Amino acid sequence: MLENLGSRFQNIMKKVRGHGKLSEENVKEALKEVKMSLLEADVNYKVVRDFTNKILENSLGENVLTGVNPGQQFIKIVNDELVELLGGTNSRLTKSPRNPTVIMLTGLQGAGKTTFAGKLANYLKKQGEVPYLVAADVYRPAAIKQLQVLGKNIGVSVYAEENSNDPVEICKNSIEAGKLENATYIILDTAGRLHIDEKLMDELKEIKKVAKPHEIMLVVDAMIGQDAVNLAQSFNEAISIDGVVLTKLDGDARGGSALSIKSVVGKPIKFIGTGETINDIELFHPERLASRILGMGDVISLVERAQENINEDDAKSLEDKIKSQKFDLEDYLKMLNMVKKMGPLKNIMKMIPGMSDIGDISPAEKEMKKVVVMIQSMTKEERKKPEILKANRKIRVAKGSGVEVSDINKLLKQFDQMKAMMKMFSGGKMPNMSALAGMKGPKGKFHF
Ligand code: GDP
Repeated sequence: MLENLGSRFQNIMKKVRGHGKLSEENVKEALKEVKMSLLEADVNYKVVRDFTNKILENSLGENVLTGVNPGQQFIKIVNDELVELLGGTNSRLTKSPRNPTVIMLTGLQGAGKTTFAGKLANYLKKQGEVPYLVAADVYRPAAIKQLQVLGKNIGVSVYAEENSNDPVEICKNSIEAGKLENATYIILDTAGRLHIDEKLMDELKEIKKVAKPHEIMLVVDAMIGQDAVNLAQSFNEAISIDGVVLTKLDGDARGGSALSIKSVVGKPIKFIGTGETINDIELFHPERLASRILGMGDVISLVERAQENINEDDAKSLEDKIKSQKFDLEDYLKMLNMVKKMGPLKNIMKMIPGMSDIGDISPAEKEMKKVVVMIQSMTKEERKKPEILKANRKIRVAKGSGVEVSDINKLLKQFDQMKAMMKMFSGGKMPNMSALAGMKGPKGKFHF
């Protein structure tokens, strides 16, 4: 997310930190680069100008350049302004004092509205809410089916009217249906269009009238750059939105809209979409994104993601097994599945301070998948007692998982080394370097 901007900013900050003292000239030089990188990230020109002016003003203020550690102080000023630009504090989703809360999702076709409807329902369900999805996107072929499949996967009811092509009527009827299902949140996936037109806006106004949503959110594709800001402005003028969802921030999107929307449109970004899978949704936290852009990592999001996706009892039982040295391949599989549940490794690494520019980790991810398949091809007994895996069994497992016997051997060897290391850890001793080296895979990449 905003990778290019992030690495540009991190380089600028590194340079600033490198100066023992900061002169006005240094600050201006750094700000020139900040300006360039923001414009390249497609941030609105006026927003950039105001942003850099404020930083300049604050930096030349009292004691900043002459104080202790001027580089750090400058970075703090940039960070604070960046947080402000992104919207200040995090804006929560509305919750009506009386159930159900009605959330109306709007947006153009392809923005990721239906995908987000599923992500939001899943997110709410995890928090103990009872979401209810409404398939009112009657114009995009397959949108209704898509929502039904999503709903089924996450165990959330979906309201649909097979033979209707009247989204206003569907939304109206769905509110009653949702109440009957004791829904606490009703999420309306309204119909999109390829472009903004009067018909779309009229229809949305009608839906707003009959469904009386507590919150209207506009779902926008971050990849469309500046147009995302214009789009948000048009929707806001026509139907008065409450917040924005920016999707596809995982791509190499320039993402400048994330930095412009709040100051141009005056409405906060509430959620961001960071991938195609159901868990790739994040509440938008300005201070966390600012940290990520400045390369300071985002440990809070990482911990939250772990808490959401990992069952505490499972984690405890694995820990006990490691301590008592009963860790077997079945446990290893569980552990790998836990990591997998947290989402793509690439996204996880980015949240760790200093790891944002770790490079391509897709080989490690592939390797992890391969190990999962190999263990899945083993019988329960083999997973418990890997030592019984002799030649014939190895051939069978290799065939079953589509790998070579040498891959099975490699896995078993690594597993032994891993166990040896766990033994040392649980005995309170530090692992020796050869065991650590053994954990490395080809070309020094880590290996799972
Ligand atoms: P709709 O027409 O607005 O309902 O759009 P969809 O929900 O069908 O999404 C359009 C495409 O964008 C699909 O291929 C989704 O998988 C993809 N998509 C949605 N959200 C994201 C996201 O946050 N990241 C990425 N990479 N793809 C997304």
